[in-house]
Amino acid sequence: MKTSLKKKVMSITAVSTITIGMLVGANWHSSTVKAKPHQNNGNVKNVIFMVPDGYSASYATSYRWYKGEESAMDSMLVGMHRTYSADTEVTDSAAAGTAMATGVKTNNGMISTSPEGKKLKTILQAAEDAGKSSGLVATSTITHATPAVFASNVASRADEANIAPQLLENDVDVILGGGKKYFPNSLLKKAEKDGYEIVSERNDLKKKNKAKKMIGLFAEEGMAPELDRDEKKQPSLAEMTDSALKTLNKDKDGFFLMIEGSQIDWAGHAHDAAWAMKDSQAFEEAVEKALDFAKKDKKTLIVIAGDHDTGGMSVGGYGEYDAKIEVLRDVTATGDFMASQINANKSNIKEIVKKYTTLDLSNDEIEKVKTADKPSIAINEIVSEHALVGWTSTQHTGVDIPLYAFGPSADLFAGLHENTDLPGLMAKAMKIKFKQTK
Ligand SMILES: [Zn+2]
Repeated sequence: MKTSLKKKVMSITAVSTITIGMLVGANWHSSTVKAKPHQNNGNVKNVIFMVPDGYSASYATSYRWYKGEESAMDSMLVGMHRTYSADTEVTDSAAAGTAMATGVKTNNGMISTSPEGKKLKTILQAAEDAGKSSGLVATSTITHATPAVFASNVASRADEANIAPQLLENDVDVILGGGKKYFPNSLLKKAEKDGYEIVSERNDLKKKNKAKKMIGLFAEEGMAPELDRDEKKQPSLAEMTDSALKTLNKDKDGFFLMIEGSQIDWAGHAHDAAWAMKDSQAFEEAVEKALDFAKKDKKTLIVIAGDHDTGGMSVGGYGEYDAKIEVLRDVTATGDFMASQINANKSNIKEIVKKYTTLDLSNDEIEKVKTADKPSIAINEIVSEHALVGWTSTQHTGVDIPLYAFGPSADLFAGLHENTDLPGLMAKAMKIKFKQTK
């Protein structure tokens, strides 16, 4: 049953990839169909689980047009997964993350806690129990819902102050992201005593390559969107991935590492299509680092799964048979940044938007930004309309989400899964014990 389903899914993938290549081959820079890199056999020592938050099929398609060729994720596609939570068809990141970390559907807002309030065991904890090292990397606060679900149990995702100490109690060896404000000095001092190297700037991160345990907190709150990032101060997601892999690879028993591209989701909530694409690119660069590592190591399984769709993005819209994603390549700042540059009497909207998007706004469009409650969203929606990117919600939607895998046991992930299947499959691949106690 499983085998035939798997074969079917894989052949559909291959055919559709070839079709896309033939249809638009003329203006496609590199339309070659890459060989499927899946291997059935071989031991899995390490698992790298990568979560592009909010990345649905629409984002994957848009990103392919934005890049102008297939993404690194495209050749790893193996299936889809269903994302609904215990209490609604449309999950949030806490319930979706809990499902992917513990194998249990819970209510929106809850962090690795069952709807009845029971603490749930996570795949990261199971890997730790098996003697492996573990790491969490994100561009949000590292106590945000998606990283939090792997190494803490709290009733509400808002309780980030209580999540921070739990990450250390659970012995997470590498902690990289934003959220310095949730780590008081007393906690960091204790961590240092326990053998952690503490870093807070990009350059320090590179220097600490002898560390076995590391905490890198590069912003008080979330890190900067990739479009607005100060490259001297904050590392990229790819750089954090590289450091995490170098640090964790010192454990001969292997590791479990979760890496989140957190802000693809934030961009979706803000209807900022250019931010979504730029952060998808930053995520892809992290995937390439992971792939380089896995290809050399040969005992590393990479699994990539967005947790849900954000914004109900469409490819094309506004009644037209067209999509103009290339418009987004010229955008060099987020809508939030552009809105912050508008002067008090709002007389420079046209210049600001021209400077950071190359678009010439009409008088109607300028008026829309001027009178908007949130000028940033108004700018983002105007840019989206020029790119023919549609949005149907400022929250998440409940569509099925693409699932990608590479390395030994990648085939386990073929087909249409529940999001709750993922941690069990990762445990099976690593041959470690992973069971919720009743
Ligand atoms: Zn979200």
